[in-house]
Amino acid sequence: MSATVSRERILSWNCEGGGPFQPQAGEVVPADIGFLSGNPIGSAMEFAITEEQKLLRQTVQEFVAKEISPHVEAWEEKGDVPDSVFRKLGEIGLLGAPIPVEYGGAGLDAVTYAMLTEELAKGCSSLRTTISVNTSLFGMNVLLFGSEAQKRFYLPKISSGEKRGAWALTEPQSGSDAAGLRTTARRKGDHWVLNGHKMWISDGGKADYHVVYARTDEFDPRTKRNHIATFVVHKDDPGFKVGSVESKTKLGLRASPTAELLYEDCTIPADRMLGKPDSGWEQANKILNGGRLSVAAGAVGIAQAALDAGIAYVKSREAFGKKIGEFQLVKEHVAYMTLEVETMRLLVYKAAWMKDQGLDNRLAVSLAKLHAGEACTRVTERAVQLHGGNGFSGEYPVERYWRDSKIIGIYEGTNEIQKIIVAGEVLDR
Ligand SMILES: Cc1cc2nc3c(=O)[nH]c(=O)nc-3n(C[C@H](O)[C@H](O)[C@H](O)COP(=O)(O)OP(=O)(O)OC[C@H]3O[C@@H](n4cnc5c(N)ncnc54)[C@H](O)[C@@H]3O)c2cc1C
Repeated sequence: MSATVSRERILSWNCEGGGPFQPQAGEVVPADIGFLSGNPIGSAMEFAITEEQKLLRQTVQEFVAKEISPHVEAWEEKGDVPDSVFRKLGEIGLLGAPIPVEYGGAGLDAVTYAMLTEELAKGCSSLRTTISVNTSLFGMNVLLFGSEAQKRFYLPKISSGEKRGAWALTEPQSGSDAAGLRTTARRKGDHWVLNGHKMWISDGGKADYHVVYARTDEFDPRTKRNHIATFVVHKDDPGFKVGSVESKTKLGLRASPTAELLYEDCTIPADRMLGKPDSGWEQANKILNGGRLSVAAGAVGIAQAALDAGIAYVKSREAFGKKIGEFQLVKEHVAYMTLEVETMRLLVYKAAWMKDQGLDNRLAVSLAKLHAGEACTRVTERAVQLHGGNGFSGEYPVERYWRDSKIIGIYEGTNEIQKIIVAGEVLDR
């Protein structure tokens, strides 16, 4: 027989002299009090990372140093990351990091996934975007809303890198106003027929499978959130076409091709619908909440890389007979950059931890995404400033960090949309 320990008994525990709280035989600690499943607790807050997390992070750092960082400029020049790199990421388990092991993933918790996402983004934000879209958007949409057969079909393939997934919500007239989408899906016997136009779809031109949001009714602004459904379209489905693709001409993410997708009587089997027919709006919100965490974790990586580059530079560059890092105004930049990186990371880890505890983390995610969207551009701008003229040159990576920082506050919900969510959550309490 086991019994749940009362919250009062745990929270009134005095650690001094007695050590951390230890449940007695047969006692169970409530999940929302203990940190990372089952640890005996002395406090409800834990900042240490586990040996396993350290090892995984080191593995990713080594991969980034060898397989990513030396090649980013060439990839940006080409406007794409080679497929072989994507497949290698699958081999080491980074494409299915949060996907359960039974579906071919690594089954990692959200905190660990955030840490690894941060490491990948330090190397290449374009590649981090491709991975997030494959895993946090396509993969999680199938995992959370797909049937058992759909999960067994798609998840092992996109976790191994054999195939890749994209996620298509945005349309030319509807970005922030995502429920304003006009792509239609009409049932014809055993099939659905899709007509419409998606825009800005990361990796959309290369992906084998796309999650596509479409409406099953006529558009009506009063009921626009109703009757949205979600489907998986394959790249060889009849009536599906890739339109224009933009890559290296973008402000940032120049190695992440972004595609326009066209559906002209695109006909797919009826069993390609994900979840219930009218659950599209609920699905989009849930999936974006997870995707935003991944974007915010990526922003921590960009900002940390900018801080590291800034520190290295001010320790080596000399002016007026001194290392520039000795000037107080330069130290102020370093201090603020450190503060911003640290607060970004804390908000991301908190939101991820809440997810691992099964807690509602919508407010925490939007706070993390909003702060990441604003702070990442400030930190990278300071890094450019610290480099003087060299910061303006393509010879140094800080100009790329700055360019790549701008998208954080735009995709998967702009800074303004995050403010609306945050204020809504707080004012509704
Ligand atoms: C590189 C890149 C990759 C992308 N990848 C994907 C992808 O893989 N899949 C996908 O579906 N989409 C993707 N997108 C689309 C992205 O999510 C949208 O661009 C974003 O949501 C903003 O929509 P919008 O561009 O239509 O801007 P708009 O919605 O037109 O917004 C323009 C401005 O108005 C502001 N605004 C709008 N409404 C309000 C309001 N109610 N209150 C206050 N301000 C408001 C916005 O914050 C913004 O500042 C990508 C975009 C880019 C640039």
